[in-house]
Amino acid sequence: MMKQYIEEAEKALLHTYNRYQVVLDHGEGVYLYDIEGKRYLDFVSGIAVFALGYHYRDYDDALKAQIDKLLHTSNYYYNVPAIEAAKKIKKISGMDRVFFTNSGAEAIEGAVKTARKYAYLKDGRTDHEIIAMNHSFHGRTMGALSVTGTPKYREPFEPMIGNIRFAEMNDIESVKALVNDRTCAILFETVQGEGGIYPAQESFLQEIRHICDENDILLMLDEIQCGMGRTGYYYAWQKYGVKPDVMTSAKALGGGVPVGAFMMTEKVGASSLAAGDHGTTYGGNPFAAAAVCKMIDLFEENDILSHVREIAPYLEEKLDLLVAKYDYIETRRGSGLMQGLACRGEVGEIIKKAMEKGLILINAGASIIRLVPPLIITREHVDEMIGILDECLAETV
Ligand SMILES: *Cc1c(COP(=O)(O)O)cnc(C)c1O
Repeated sequence: MMKQYIEEAEKALLHTYNRYQVVLDHGEGVYLYDIEGKRYLDFVSGIAVFALGYHYRDYDDALKAQIDKLLHTSNYYYNVPAIEAAKKIKKISGMDRVFFTNSGAEAIEGAVKTARKYAYLKDGRTDHEIIAMNHSFHGRTMGALSVTGTPKYREPFEPMIGNIRFAEMNDIESVKALVNDRTCAILFETVQGEGGIYPAQESFLQEIRHICDENDILLMLDEIQCGMGRTGYYYAWQKYGVKPDVMTSAKALGGGVPVGAFMMTEKVGASSLAAGDHGTTYGGNPFAAAAVCKMIDLFEENDILSHVREIAPYLEEKLDLLVAKYDYIETRRGSGLMQGLACRGEVGEIIKKAMEKGLILINAGASIIRLVPPLIITREHVDEMIGILDECLAETV
């Protein structure tokens, strides 16, 4: 049954992914089931999206209720879910102004436009530069691709949008070397995801904040993957108290409904994008906004942040035992429930084998096993995952 669907898929869908040979059907908690009924423990959660797991009754009910009321209106009108969602995002992020998008990449597009407009209003120039980081990932649209620090993703689609410079994450001198009077923003992920799970160091964040303050440059943090509770804080920068001027959120923000946002301080909001500068048909429609509202409510009601802070050290401890056991694993990196096992070779075979044994994992680059499970995992789930991964490593490396 699965084989036939996969064949049909390969005839109909554009081949932009080398997909795992599985057709997923439904989910329950931290488990996914394929169409033949096989169960998988999910340590990917749709790439850091399904923070509260699958088939979460209250969440599903909130979506159903909104479907029965109103799915969509244009942004030319107000709607209550979007107002409530924006207020809740302000509260959890400490930002002042919210713009809803449909995806992470679109949130990055908005952040880039915000930076350019902010600088343009200051000096009228049209040659401003943005500093981004090597190994970063910000999405696949042209603007987001332009600030993505992996040349192989960009090259076939050149020319990019202009005036993007790349520095090295956690190397403050490499940033300083690029700052000049045209620099309008410094953009990076608080914890790099696709690039290999590299958390920004506290001192790096602080020094960048200082550079930005001195030169009226915007600090823009991409929290699309590491945000919404994944590190034990709503947003990863909150651990260090280094507040950005602009930030992006998506992935877990809607818990499975496609929605993102870029947010900014009042200072930036008052002097950047204005009426007519930016828009979206779907962004922040009542359905997407209802999802955001319910996610944040459920985070509060269930104190998800405390749970992450409690369970993450246990996951780290168990992963470190694997690092000690297998020479093939070079090191563990990460923050909270966003962890990577950096290996000395490719990890594709290990991940495939895990799938056969009923465990869903994903890579980040060719040699890193990435773990971004639902935030509701328990010690038992960690033990189950470690047991299977241990077997896979024993059989593969
Ligand atoms: C996934 C991701 C994006 C892009 O989000 P999409 O919703 O896929 O467009 C941008 N930045 C980071 C850090 C991401 O992990």
